[in-house]
Amino acid sequence: MPKKKSTFDKYTWIVTELIIGIAALGYGLFGIIDRPTITNYFFIILVSSGSILLLVAIVQIIMMRKKKIDKFCSKCGEKIKKADDYCPKCGEKIG
Ligand SMILES: [Zn+2]
Repeated sequence: MPKKKSTFDKYTWIVTELIIGIAALGYGLFGIIDRPTITNYFFIILVSSGSILLLVAIVQIIMMRKKKIDKFCSKCGEKIKKADDYCPKCGEKIG
């Protein structure tokens, strides 16, 4: 199923973002703590980009979770509310 593969690819991408984000953030913070008297822009950039990567990954996880809750009609693909038993577009029963 091609749909399952794309979900796996997205998951792999999020995990990669998380790992790189944590690594950049950790290394950057370590660099700043190690040399607090020097303003090291390299480590500041590392911390900033690491934080942004983590934030992006978290937003993607939240969006994926939200997507999982939504149901779609197996017949026409229309988005279906949780409470609905029948598709509002084609009337297909939702099991
Ligand atoms: Zn339908």
